[in-house]
Amino acid sequence: MDLEKIREIEKEHYMKLFKRSHICFERGEGCTLYDTAGHAYTDFFGGIAVNCLGYNDPELVEAVRVQAGKLMHTSNLYYNVPQAELTERLTRDGMFSRVFFCNSGAEANECAIKIVRKLASMTGSGKTTILTANESFHGRTLATVTATGQDKYSAPFAPLPAGFRHVPFNDLDALREATTPDVGAIMLECIQGEGGLRPATYDYLVGAYAFAKQKGILLILDEVQTGTGRTGKFYCFEHYGIQPDIVTLAKGLGGGVPIACCLARGEAAEALCPGDHGTTFGGNPLACAAANVVVGKLQDGDLLDRVTKAGDYLADSLSRKLARHKFVLDIRGKGLLRGIQLDEKISATAVAGMMMSLGVIIGTCGHNTLRIAPPYIISEAETDDMTDKLETIFSNTNI
Ligand SMILES: *Cc1c(COP(=O)(O)O)cnc(C)c1O
Repeated sequence: MDLEKIREIEKEHYMKLFKRSHICFERGEGCTLYDTAGHAYTDFFGGIAVNCLGYNDPELVEAVRVQAGKLMHTSNLYYNVPQAELTERLTRDGMFSRVFFCNSGAEANECAIKIVRKLASMTGSGKTTILTANESFHGRTLATVTATGQDKYSAPFAPLPAGFRHVPFNDLDALREATTPDVGAIMLECIQGEGGLRPATYDYLVGAYAFAKQKGILLILDEVQTGTGRTGKFYCFEHYGIQPDIVTLAKGLGGGVPIACCLARGEAAEALCPGDHGTTFGGNPLACAAANVVVGKLQDGDLLDRVTKAGDYLADSLSRKLARHKFVLDIRGKGLLRGIQLDEKISATAVAGMMMSLGVIIGTCGHNTLRIAPPYIISEAETDDMTDKLETIFSNTNI
């Protein structure tokens, strides 16, 4: 099927949701994607921070192939081996005592939200409100879109569920002030991804952790984008020396196979009981087999070190070539998750489009910010090529 036919079908029959680039990818190898016209692209966006092992990773492909031939799905009415292995892997460091597997970041956050509500109803505390940050992003279900601190995502879908309030990000006083007796949890991203690649300051996140502890309320960290090694640690919160009560993972967890999870400790881990929550697909053998490869490489191999090294190289290359440029207002992030805030005189979307025509995929987020989130196996040569091309675009743009 050619691209024109594909575009025609989507235009007529797919819900009018996505502004897609006029490209159809067919296969990938390492950090390179190939489209149906045979063009190659170096991928610095990884399917929105998902394809952490790159494309066609031999171990991941083999694990999925073998598991697909054995058993793909049984439901959670029965035990399955890959799920038990993944459960053991994710809890072996003792940080979290229980996990729940689901299929998307939004669902993982739904689980976290239900834990807060369940604890409130069990104890009769009335602590059902969850504080989240302005410019945050937590997903597209009704509850998570309401948790998301950007009205544009939720306003058209009123009436919205009650129980969420937004506070300014990186403002500890605002968080303290907003914590009325009805507040049961604070939910934050360590680095706001969708909202503009803005890291929580050290003092803010550590302060929020200490404050939640002092108040006896839960700290939920949405690590859907920052988790699973993206910043050089398994969880981004490890950079801050803290530990939340609940953490959610998704994007990178299955290396491209849909799987997400909600991990909890203490009373949060014990709140949900039979009948409270569930999923048909979540934690099925196929998805867990994929995640076991990703988590295994992060736990047993040198992949985390690789992310740190590649991330340092990326940060250095970006700042060496771009920081002095008049269009570049800020370069920020951690590990292999970096944002470049651009001056409003140049459009981030246009820059990403120009990069695409030069054979490099990068993303955008927030207010005119480029988002860079390559596979963990990205090379220094690929990184240099990407930053050279960005520099060329900025240098040749006259305004
Ligand atoms: C992508 C994202 C989500 C939503 O994940 P889905 O899999 O699209 O539901 C939630 N939180 C954060 C921080 C994300 O980056």
